[in-house]
Amino acid sequence: MNKMDRIAVLTSGGDSPGMNAAIRAVARTCMFNDKECIGVMRGYEGLIEGDFVPLDRKAIGGIMHRGGTVLKTARSERFKTPEGRELALEQMRKAGIDGLVVIGGDGSFHGAKALHDLGFPTVGIPGTIDNDITGTDETIGFDTAVNTALEAIRKLRDTASSHERLFIVEVMGRNAGFLALEVAVASGAEYVVVPELPLSIGQLCKQLKASYAEHRSHTLIILAEGVMSAAQMCEKLQDTGGYDPRVTVLGYIQRGGSPTSFDIVLSTRMGAFATEGLLIGKSGVMVGNINHKLVFSDLERAWSEHKSLSPELLSLITKMN
Ligand code: ADP
Repeated sequence: MNKMDRIAVLTSGGDSPGMNAAIRAVARTCMFNDKECIGVMRGYEGLIEGDFVPLDRKAIGGIMHRGGTVLKTARSERFKTPEGRELALEQMRKAGIDGLVVIGGDGSFHGAKALHDLGFPTVGIPGTIDNDITGTDETIGFDTAVNTALEAIRKLRDTASSHERLFIVEVMGRNAGFLALEVAVASGAEYVVVPELPLSIGQLCKQLKASYAEHRSHTLIILAEGVMSAAQMCEKLQDTGGYDPRVTVLGYIQRGGSPTSFDIVLSTRMGAFATEGLLIGKSGVMVGNINHKLVFSDLERAWSEHKSLSPELLSLITKMN
């Protein structure tokens, strides 16, 4: 097994709440095992440039509850080239780094897998609010994003019910509907529109008319950004039966804020598990939380295997309407 005296950690791709708690957990686990921890600034771009900072006790003090990532994140086109990756390896060799923890989404995991294939010990931690990564029930940041969206929607509900309004709320999630579905169930939304399911605008208009006729004071549609924009949907809904439609795009507020306790605990567990994994010779794998238990699975599963929405949650939208 390779020696593992100095472990580096980076955050890459889109940021998500909880990444700082994961960074702290990697650093703390290194300290606990008498190993050194190095932070890489700005993801793979910083790796290529050798932009490294020591993650000692002082550097990680007070970061656990903060949103975003203290290591910053960036997208790096250079890292997608063999030359870029060679430069990154050279920088790590020079700095005496023996293993790397990559916190990010499936794009970042492609990069992690490339390093593993070059013989460099690399382990991934899934960090994205989209929850669109196979191999884990939840990604870091998802729970916080759901709660942030929920808080905003509760406020919209108040004004929606006062004015007999139809609110179309667009939530993030890239090409997946995990965030939209969870938010829809948690907010008691009447409808959810996700990329995974076919959409009939005619059927939706019919349901809205029936709902208005039943004197429902307001209606909420949660729309995943991967389907279309809320403005586009509003245009398509020619006849809402009497409701006055309004559009809200929650946008980047969903990516920010202090992580929930769930996300902090998940990040801390995953950070420790990933680091301990490197110490026992794991590489080319990501940490996942499956049925409340941490497991490793091959990095490529993250993008090659489809992750499905929960049929149970989907059925709740209809049952609770
Ligand atoms: P996310 O990790 O959130 O999905 P991106 O898709 O933007 O974010 O990926 C983040 C970074 O990962 C990219 O900027 C790039 O440096 C690296 N990356 C993405 N795809 C590859 C790839 N096929 N090979 C090597 N590195 C990659």
